[in-house]
Amino acid sequence: MGLSDQAILEQLQALDRMHHLHPFTDPQAVKKAAPFVIEQAKGAYITGQEIRLLDAMAGLGCVNIGYGREEMADVAVEAIRTLSYYHSFSAVSNPYAAALAGKIASLAPAGLNKVFFANSGSEANETLIKLAYLYWRRKGQPSKRILISRDYSYHGSTLATTRLNGNAPMIEDFGLAGGDDVLQATSPFWYRCGGDLEPEEFGLAAARDVEKKILEAGAENVAAVIAEPIQGTMGAIVPPDSYWPELSRICTEHDVLLIADEVVTGFGRTGHWFAQETFGFEADMMALAKGLSSGYAPISAAVISDEIADVIEDKGGVLHHGFTTSGHPLASALALKNIEIIETEGHVEKVHADIGPYFSKKLKTLEDHPLVGEVRVSGLIAGVELAKDKRSREQYPLEASVCNHVGQMALVRGLIVRPAGNVVVLCPPFIITHAEVDFLVGVMRDALDETQ
Ligand code: PLP
Repeated sequence: MGLSDQAILEQLQALDRMHHLHPFTDPQAVKKAAPFVIEQAKGAYITGQEIRLLDAMAGLGCVNIGYGREEMADVAVEAIRTLSYYHSFSAVSNPYAAALAGKIASLAPAGLNKVFFANSGSEANETLIKLAYLYWRRKGQPSKRILISRDYSYHGSTLATTRLNGNAPMIEDFGLAGGDDVLQATSPFWYRCGGDLEPEEFGLAAARDVEKKILEAGAENVAAVIAEPIQGTMGAIVPPDSYWPELSRICTEHDVLLIADEVVTGFGRTGHWFAQETFGFEADMMALAKGLSSGYAPISAAVISDEIADVIEDKGGVLHHGFTTSGHPLASALALKNIEIIETEGHVEKVHADIGPYFSKKLKTLEDHPLVGEVRVSGLIAGVELAKDKRSREQYPLEASVCNHVGQMALVRGLIVRPAGNVVVLCPPFIITHAEVDFLVGVMRDALDETQ
């Protein structure tokens, strides 16, 4: 659709303001400002209303192979012509979903071999929660119902996943607070929560806070711990190296399932196919979404271990759970092609050994800026933590909107970043070039200078 005609653009903006309720947005802000209507996206850039922006957020941390790829368009056309839709209930399948399930199992850490398809990261996590309950029930331990998540976590927007989030307004606005079936443990967020401890000491302490919650609740009542390897949405919180092996040990010791929410980190973001490899642990279940199709289609996967699958499949009847579009042929075909592109272009290796280290080296130069407390990077996900006082690690009050100002200053210079509280989050596409990283870091420095 060409938006060069001002009248058409204004008509669309009016329709949007009148009829479109936007996610995670203050509706009053949409009413006041004309929405920015994107006309086109190609590679690492989006354009609209004669503005071209380098998208250092890859949409919402998903468009890993870049926007508008011809190969993806060709696959979409072929899949629609061949099989536009059929469900996967009963023993019905389609070539794309079957091949994709096999591909995910071949790439996933050892033992994670069974895949259930859904449409979003929230649904993948919701599915895993239900499968965890089902596993314990079919195993004869129905009292195991409690879920443990952590402060600063984000696991989704469905009813069950909302309650796991470490963000009070997301829970309180919907009257979902309370209940003793969800417990929150400390986040391994050293910069904010580490106090006087060294990062590695704090990593162990944060993992042991999960153990404390398990012991308080009684391990016989705890179904699972759910955790993002890197807490992306709330500030790209990269945990100390000591954290994950200790958390994994604790879950095994107390017979509690470990769910890795790899919705952001899956498919190469941290320089390995999955962040479990980056941080050295193995989960019992993992959630995948965003990078599964690079955002070309809504598709997600709930992946479970052989042991869990054996119990669920052999010790009970029908799986009473599913979505009309589970294993959708078009979405599955796009996910398969996306993975093929990541493999043939060597993106995981490049994030690990080329563009990832370059991004990290360049971005960390910002640590000398008076406003920057810490720069955290893993692969191509980063958080630039702002600090009012670098020595005491004191935060800016959120009302001061310092981070939002940095985001605005970046935007007017042609760069999309994501302000999250006091952290500027960056999650660029894998196709970002060295020159674009230089541009990104230069703009960030200017935006910080402008904010001082
Ligand atoms: N889990 C994590 C770690 C996420 O970052 C997100 C979304 O940002 C979700 C789950 C929810 O995914 P979706 O928005 O696709 O439902």
